[in-house]
Amino acid sequence: MKSRTKVVVIGGGIAGCTTLYYPTQEGWTDVVLGEWNDLTLSTTWQSAAQVKHFGMNQTMVGQKTYSIQLYKDLAEDPDYPINHHHRDGGIRLANTEAQMQGYRHFASMVRGMDVQFEVIDAEECARRHPLISTENLIGGLWDTMDRDIDPAQLCQALGCRARKAGAEVYRNTPVVGLTQYNDDIWTVQTEHGDIDCDKVVNACGHRVNEVDAMIGVHHPVYHIGYQYFLAEEILAIRDAGHRIPLLRCPISDYYCRQEKNGLLLGFHEQDCKT
Ligand SMILES: Cc1cc2nc3c(=O)[nH]c(=O)nc-3n(C[C@H](O)[C@H](O)[C@H](O)COP(=O)(O)OP(=O)(O)OC[C@H]3O[C@@H](n4cnc5c(N)ncnc54)[C@H](O)[C@@H]3O)c2cc1C
Repeated sequence: MKSRTKVVVIGGGIAGCTTLYYPTQEGWTDVVLGEWNDLTLSTTWQSAAQVKHFGMNQTMVGQKTYSIQLYKDLAEDPDYPINHHHRDGGIRLANTEAQMQGYRHFASMVRGMDVQFEVIDAEECARRHPLISTENLIGGLWDTMDRDIDPAQLCQALGCRARKAGAEVYRNTPVVGLTQYNDDIWTVQTEHGDIDCDKVVNACGHRVNEVDAMIGVHHPVYHIGYQYFLAEEILAIRDAGHRIPLLRCPISDYYCRQEKNGLLLGFHEQDCKT
């Protein structure tokens, strides 16, 4: 393990692996990542890992366009191909005219960025998704890029490219202390030794405050309850002859996509603390 480096990233979930990757692509090779356990094993491992193109504004959509291109590039990398990258498209449902108007506005806004979304009526939703009931449905926003990715493979692929460019990953290396000196140099204490560095990135996800407490900092981060269900095989899906698109329902706040020949159905906690 190095005792001096430029950057120490703490945490090997998707945030940490991504943060390790980017400096290496800009030529910063003296970067390391310390992970308590193994890459991906925390929240990232449990993710349904939908990668949507929709965002609230052009900046968000632009970032997502970039991520989708990066993930496509990683998926096609012969050195570490990501083999679980479905491209089924997705429908964001609407049951009010105001929502449809919002979708029309969104589709026209992103067209200027060369991003294609399509506003479709209820019958077209049903044509594209064999399990939809059109009762109370007005239509939806079709995102041809909506897809999911294997989050574990994604982290490994980012880590793999970063390592090739000179970065180092220390697994089973919990960070237990942090000290900042007057000259802005840091010492990151781990269970396997100390590392001095210029910059520290805390990418510890829901445990971010455990590490920040080491330097007396607290962030207003709260946990939210979140779960998804996996259904057994559904004959209509098995016999559809194609993978079915993902559904997102902003009204009831759930999403639903094909997983094998069944469904993965996720809900977000309502009225949670923010
Ligand atoms: C059920 C579920 C479904 C989801 N679905 C989606 C989805 O469809 N699309 C989407 O974009 N997002 C989804 N998410 C959210 C997404 O998974 C998270 O936002 C993301 O994984 C968070 O990544 P992270 O790197 O910030 O945190 P984590 O994955 O938690 O990584 C933090 C890492 O820090 C390490 N760590 C903590 N303390 C220390 C320490 N002291 N020293 C060293 N290492 C330490 C941990 O071991 C861990 O590996 C979902 C989440 C859940 C739970």
